Amino acid sequence: MDQAPKALFNPQAADARVLGVLQPELHDLPALLETWSEPTPLRVSGGGTTSRAAVSGCWSLDLSAHVRSVVWDGSTATVRIGAGSRVGDVLEVLVPHQRTFAAGLSGLPGMGYVLTGGMGPLSRRFGLAVDQLTTLTGVWGGGEPFRLERSRHGQTDEWRGLCGAAPFLAVVTEVELMTQKLQPLWVQQSSGAPQQLADWIETAEHAGAGVSLQWHWGESDQLTRLQVRCDPAPDHICIEGLHQLPPLASTPLGQPRLHGEVVGLLGPANSRGWRRLLPELQGLMDQRPHRNCSLSAQQLGEATAQVAVGETSFIHRDAVWKPWITAVWPAGDADRRQLSLAWLERVWQLLHTVCPGVHLAQLHDQLPFHQRELEQAFGAWLPSLRQLKRQRDPRCVLPPL
Ligand SMILES: Cc1cc2nc3c(=O)[nH]c(=O)nc-3n(C[C@H](O)[C@H](O)[C@H](O)COP(=O)(O)OP(=O)(O)OC[C@H]3O[C@@H](n4cnc5c(N)ncnc54)[C@H](O)[C@@H]3O)c2cc1C
Repeated sequence: MDQAPKALFNPQAADARVLGVLQPELHDLPALLETWSEPTPLRVSGGGTTSRAAVSGCWSLDLSAHVRSVVWDGSTATVRIGAGSRVGDVLEVLVPHQRTFAAGLSGLPGMGYVLTGGMGPLSRRFGLAVDQLTTLTGVWGGGEPFRLERSRHGQTDEWRGLCGAAPFLAVVTEVELMTQKLQPLWVQQSSGAPQQLADWIETAEHAGAGVSLQWHWGESDQLTRLQVRCDPAPDHICIEGLHQLPPLASTPLGQPRLHGEVVGLLGPANSRGWRRLLPELQGLMDQRPHRNCSLSAQQLGEATAQVAVGETSFIHRDAVWKPWITAVWPAGDADRRQLSLAWLERVWQLLHTVCPGVHLAQLHDQLPFHQRELEQAFGAWLPSLRQLKRQRDPRCVLPPL
C-alpha cells in the first residue's frame, strides 16, 4: 500500500505516501521491532491526529486494528485502554459506571494524548493524564516486551521516560489509568476582543482548582473563550461531564484541503507578561499568512503542580498556561507552507518570554526546530532520556531524540 489509510484524522498524515501500513498481531510486535530492517523511523499511529502519524517514505504501524479495547475495572476504579482507542471511546465506556478520566478538549486524540502528557479542563483538579497512569504495557523499540507498574517501577527512568516521552522509546500497547467520579460541569462559552485577553488571564490565574479557562484566537479581531467549572455559576450551562464538552473552536467548513503543524508551549502564571506582549501579538495575528492560522491556550496549575518534576518526563510542573500555535497552508503549496511556518516561529519567539517550555505533543523531526523543541520540552532530563533511548531503542527504530 502506498497511501496512508484515509481514516487518519490529520489530513497531512492521510495524504502521506507511506511505504506501507503494518497491522501486526500483538504477539508479533516484539519480533517485528527487534528485526526491523526497513527505513527508520517506524511511525506509530494512535488516533492519527498529528502530522507524524504517517509520513512519506516511512512505514506506519497502525495499532487501531488489534488493540481497541477499553475495560473498566470496578474493583480498582481503573480503566485499561488499548492503544487503538480514542479518548472519546474511553469517556463513553466510563459514563455508564458514573466515572470519567483526565481527558482533554476533544474525544478524537488517541493514545498519543495520554503518552505525551494529556491535559484537559479537569487537570487543575486531578492532574495530567500521565499522572493517572498505574500500568504501562508495550514493547521497547529494541523489541523487548515490558509491563511496568507505578507501585513497583514508578521511581525508575523507564517509567519516567514513558510518562511523557514514550513515542521515542517504545510502542505502548495498553495503559491503565485511575478514573474519577463523573460529576456535572458548568461551562460558559463567550467571545471578546483581543484587548480583553490579559484580563481573562489575570482573572483565571486567581481562580481555584475547580475552574479552568481555555481560549482560542482564530479571527484577528475576535477571541472565543470556554470556561469550565466544577461548581454551579450564573450564565453557565450544566453538562454531564467531559463527554459533553462543547468545542473550543468551530471546524472551518468549505475549505480546500489544509495541511499544518502545531507547536505547544508551556509557561507559568504571568498575566503581566501577557499584557506586555499583547500589542505585538495582535500585530502578528493581523499578519497571519492564512486565515486558519491560530493561537489557543488551556490552563494548568494546581494539581498539575503537585507532582514532583522528577516523576515524569513532563518537567514543566510550574506551567499554568499551555498555548498552542497552529500554522496551516493549502495542501501541497510549498511557498505558503514556508510562510506559515515562519509565522509560527515568530509567534513562538514572542511567546517564549512568557512560555519558555514546550509541550511535545506533536513530533516535528522533519523541521529545523526539532532540537530546540526537545531541549525546551525535556530540559536537564534530556541527556538521561537519550541514554535511556540508547538502551531501549538502540537501533533507533522509533523517532529520533
Ligand atoms: C482535535 C484535537 C484536540 C486536542 N486537544 C488536546 C487537549 O485538550 N489536551 C492535550 O494535551 N492535547 C490535545 N491535543 C493534542 C494531542 O493530544 C496530541 O497531538 C497527541 O499526540 C495526539 O495523539 P494521537 O494518538 O491522536 O495522534 P498520533 O499522531 O497517532 O500520535 C501522536 C504521537 O504519539 C505517538 N504514539 C501514538 N500512539 C503511540 C503508542 N501506542 N506507542 C508509542 N507512541 C505512540 C505517535 O508515534 C506520534 O508521534 C489535541 C489534538 C487534537 C487533534
